[in-house]
Amino acid sequence: MPDHRAVSRVCPFCEATCGVRIEAEGDKIVSVRGDRDDPFSRGFICPKAYGLKEIYEDPERLRRPLKRTPSGWREIGWEEAYREVRERLLEIRKKHGNNAIGMYSGNPVVHDMSFLYMTALGRALASRSVFNASAIDTLPKEIQTGLMFGGPFPATVPVPDIDRTSYLLVIGANPAVSHGSLMTMPDAPGRLKRVIARGGRIVVIDPRRTETAKLATEHHFIRPGADAALLLAMINTLFSEDLIKLGAAQGMVDGIDKVESIARGFAPEAVAEYCGVSAADIRRIAREFAGAESAACYGRLGTCVQEFGTLASWGVDLLNILTGNLDRPGGVMFPRAAAPVTAIAGAHPFEFGRWRSRVSGQPEVAGMIPSSTMAEEILTPGDGQVRAMILLMTNPLRSAANSGELEAAFSSLDFLVAIDFYLNETTRHADLILPTPSPAEQPNYEFGLYHLSVRNVSKWSAVAVPPPSDQPPAWEVMLQIAAGMMGLGEHQVREVDDVIFAQMAQSAVKKNTQWKGLTAEEVVTSLAGAAGPERIFDMLIRLGPYGDGFGRDPSGLTLAKVKAAPHGIDLGPLEPRLSEIINTRSGKIELAPAAMLDDVPRLSARVGQPGTADQMLLIGRRNLRTSNSFMHNLPSLVKGRNRCTLQISPTDAARLRIADGAAARVTSRAGSVVVPVEVTDDLMPGVASLPHGWGHNLEDTRLSVARAHAGANANAVTDNHAYDVASGTAVLFGTPVTIEPA
Ligand code: SF4
Repeated sequence: MPDHRAVSRVCPFCEATCGVRIEAEGDKIVSVRGDRDDPFSRGFICPKAYGLKEIYEDPERLRRPLKRTPSGWREIGWEEAYREVRERLLEIRKKHGNNAIGMYSGNPVVHDMSFLYMTALGRALASRSVFNASAIDTLPKEIQTGLMFGGPFPATVPVPDIDRTSYLLVIGANPAVSHGSLMTMPDAPGRLKRVIARGGRIVVIDPRRTETAKLATEHHFIRPGADAALLLAMINTLFSEDLIKLGAAQGMVDGIDKVESIARGFAPEAVAEYCGVSAADIRRIAREFAGAESAACYGRLGTCVQEFGTLASWGVDLLNILTGNLDRPGGVMFPRAAAPVTAIAGAHPFEFGRWRSRVSGQPEVAGMIPSSTMAEEILTPGDGQVRAMILLMTNPLRSAANSGELEAAFSSLDFLVAIDFYLNETTRHADLILPTPSPAEQPNYEFGLYHLSVRNVSKWSAVAVPPPSDQPPAWEVMLQIAAGMMGLGEHQVREVDDVIFAQMAQSAVKKNTQWKGLTAEEVVTSLAGAAGPERIFDMLIRLGPYGDGFGRDPSGLTLAKVKAAPHGIDLGPLEPRLSEIINTRSGKIELAPAAMLDDVPRLSARVGQPGTADQMLLIGRRNLRTSNSFMHNLPSLVKGRNRCTLQISPTDAARLRIADGAAARVTSRAGSVVVPVEVTDDLMPGVASLPHGWGHNLEDTRLSVARAHAGANANAVTDNHAYDVASGTAVLFGTPVTIEPA
């Protein structure tokens, strides 16, 4: 066939960075397969990768800007769209001030090079009303690692060295299905199985017997929200049985006495009933973890989006540090990103709480406020009320807590512009939708994820099918909005890009310690003629730890060399580098930050009031075929059995008189949904599980496939006014609900 080509790239649909091989002819994608020559993923992919083809072909994917008019949606040209955005936003800012314009970015931005322009757009808006998807589910980890290690997220997140560990303790995470989060690892099931095949152990602690638990050597149910108490009880055991050893962190920690004093109040016997895990098991697992040749504790969503998310995240890293497993092979280590995006990130050392949100006083983190505050910031009158929103690739009315309140908030805005290629449950409230090309039509580099990778790698994603000439990439659209807010027109975007790049070069050169004599002027001059994200990538990789230092090490990496290795470059296993990471004011790992210490009394009080026997707590659930709500419009990912079910244990099914397959009504303070029930031994009694992102039953979207597989909206029930106090993160796992036959 003419023009038949095979293009290697990285799948953008989760954090695993699997290599895919896309075969294309002309403007048709013929096939999507695993890239066997990718040194990191070795051909592994999951069903979601096929979504690259289905999104590209989806007739409902928007190709032209859509404008809301009294007679319905109308397609318009880009110039008209940019002009309208500029005029409306400037008018609102003039009338109501900077904070009246809010911005919310979704998880797909992380997999798109427009990610590099987020800071620039934020600066042009100069607003404090900035939210993002990581503020839904990652904030506790971001705050905890920032306070303990001092640097910018995600470079300060220690990652399990899964390929060498002999003991993996998984708490509130399901990597066999999620394929890792804040832990980039293609072929998660294979990597987990290999831990056991080489004689290691995997212990899973989770209210649900997850797919990871079924691969593990041992699983224990735990009450939702009790992870922090359990981890502090394990730390209590380490102190009381003289099992503390600091390893690489010896001489580099501050506050160990405070940790010991706090852990004294969490004896395993005192928390066992609250956790639902026996004191004997808590002590045994703590001893095994401390005695293992190497061990890594990994906690994810379940430890973050709960009542004590920051304390639980703290407990995970305390356990790793106090057993000598930080920064050693087989323990938890800091990846070395080839193109460190932190070179152009914010201030050091890490700071948070520089200001508080206007309505409920939640703390700022790295310039954003928790997503749990978004609805109240829009709905509450007063100085600084959010009147306009810019949405970047997101559907918060299905992904964030309390969609009922968010629905009221978004329908009340004076102006809403969405960069998105679907008319979904949220963008249906927009005045303008600006659709950018699908992932297969754009180059990409996973900047953030290679900071979290279980092996050091670098891989460029090439364009598989060229986008239409009249459809700009998201970074260009963001620059257009930024230029508009700076009082510039659409024809000056190239100049704005140059100014932004010069600022980034200043920041990156200032943080560079590796390449002597390098100046920002040299960087800018060397890359003259280039533009956009590729220029930024070239700078970051050349300045990075494997780079050529702008000619100072001719064997080092450049954009051209990374592009010339289409299957990716293996840069070796993780290596110890703790001293490079610590960036606190004390120069040590802060084991006992005030934000955690201040929240311990709340946890102690909860341990003493574990709740009633008939109280049901709702948690979420990850499914292999979906990670974003837009995937529900892709036929191959929604075919087959209904995956949006409410799982409950046989004990609760009998008590509530609800049969398997029957409909149940789930009700919380925030709202109510009706959903079919699946009775399974996999759930702890007292716990119900419902996946999020569903609820596609609205007529005014353009998601016909999703509408035919509507499911129930879990976020109609989750509550944005129930927080992890330290971070302001809404509790998504552990929502008190009543369940009754419907
Ligand atoms: S595991 Fe993640 S990166 Fe790999 S193919 Fe599936 S969705 Fe894509």
